[in-house]
Amino acid sequence: GRHVVVVGAGMAGVQTAVALRERGYDGRITLIGAEPHPPYDRPPLSKAVLLGQTDSPAFDVDFAALSVELRLGVEVTGLRPDAREIDTDAGPVPYDVLVLATGAEPVRLPGTEGVPGVYTLRTLDDAEQLRPVLARRRATVIVGAGWIGAEFATAARAAGCSVTVVEAADVPFSGALPPEVAAPMAEWYAESGAELLTRARVASVAPGGPGEPGTVALADGRLLPAEAVVVGIGARPATGWLAGSGIALEPDGSITADDRLRASLPGVYAVGDCASFPSARYGERLLVHHWDNALQGPRTVAAQVTGETERRYDPVPYFWSEQFGRFVQYAGHHAAADALVWRGDPAEAAWSVVWLRDGVLVALLAVGRPRDLAQGRKLIEAGARLDRERAGDPAVPLRKA
Ligand code: FAD
Repeated sequence: GRHVVVVGAGMAGVQTAVALRERGYDGRITLIGAEPHPPYDRPPLSKAVLLGQTDSPAFDVDFAALSVELRLGVEVTGLRPDAREIDTDAGPVPYDVLVLATGAEPVRLPGTEGVPGVYTLRTLDDAEQLRPVLARRRATVIVGAGWIGAEFATAARAAGCSVTVVEAADVPFSGALPPEVAAPMAEWYAESGAELLTRARVASVAPGGPGEPGTVALADGRLLPAEAVVVGIGARPATGWLAGSGIALEPDGSITADDRLRASLPGVYAVGDCASFPSARYGERLLVHHWDNALQGPRTVAAQVTGETERRYDPVPYFWSEQFGRFVQYAGHHAAADALVWRGDPAEAAWSVVWLRDGVLVALLAVGRPRDLAQGRKLIEAGARLDRERAGDPAVPLRKA
């Protein structure tokens, strides 16, 4: 039979193996991951794991029962497509079908690599290093007011740390949300007791001695004492090892997948945070760094591998975030030109925003309004047209015009 080799034992890699077995594939599956830990889920890392409120975020998957050969602590270093082999630090591995699921790596702050007290938050090891910082209520500086920054700030404030967030843009979430939507979210920082410094840039980080606070110097000369600096300025696809292999990559580093998640070489697929795909729904290539994409994508890959080759991948992207006591959810994909409609008052605990393109619902942000999200997601899926007036009335459920 054929041998499916999956590179990367995160959500997308694990779900690929699971989905293949669910579809009755009974050939050999090898799942290779660089991290030494049993495969685990990342969203809890910036939530319960930081606060020591969960034992283990490991996936509840019995790999032995699924006959999945799990090779942990093994790094894949190269791909030789002509030989249909990958190279690892434990020797070459031949494949018939290769699934690339290497996820993403956090972007580092230039000049801080190897500086003690500077952290990123991507892996279980990262979260375990940061847990004692919270437990000891150290002064923390967070660089970047994005999703990771907001969740880390939430956990650090819950633990009783003093928290300063340094953000280069005018508002948080500047890459993801329009300023008018992000502006009210900036208030959440102050409300939690965290200080948000916008239009601020880190110039340098000087580590402290053992037990001594270090210093973060901002470009404008301000100095912030910090015993831990957490950098949350984004993530890039972990695809450096594919350079020269012949696999096509996009300028953003993502693997160029097609609408069936096939990479540019025969027998090779790409899924999850490492891959981008053309969205027919939104008319552009999407690189999605969210959990739901690492759950849905593998089902398409497994379908392809098991012969359902007409199956295409065209999801409505979805993610959630838990921050400052709020449940934030987003579905779809919006562009700057789409019409924004408020549902409710952002000064209140719960509100939503919807985006319409020529009257059709394309995206929705819900804060504490999970019903809006659930209804909106289905309407986006269906390409439904909405009455603008009614969509703006939070007392009226979202529905087709
Ligand atoms: P990853 O989870 O990154 O897994 C890839 C794996 O491949 C890694 O274990 C890596 O070590 C391994 N690997 C990489 N290169 C190699 C190599 N060369 N050889 C061998 N192995 C390799 N999304 C949400 O929607 N909601 C949330 O609330 C949310 N919270 C998050 C909180 C945190 C702290 C983080 C980091 C992410 C969060 N996400 C959230 C995003 C979500 O976790 C990711 O989208 C998801 O993990 C992507 O899965 P993946 O398998 O594609 O990549």
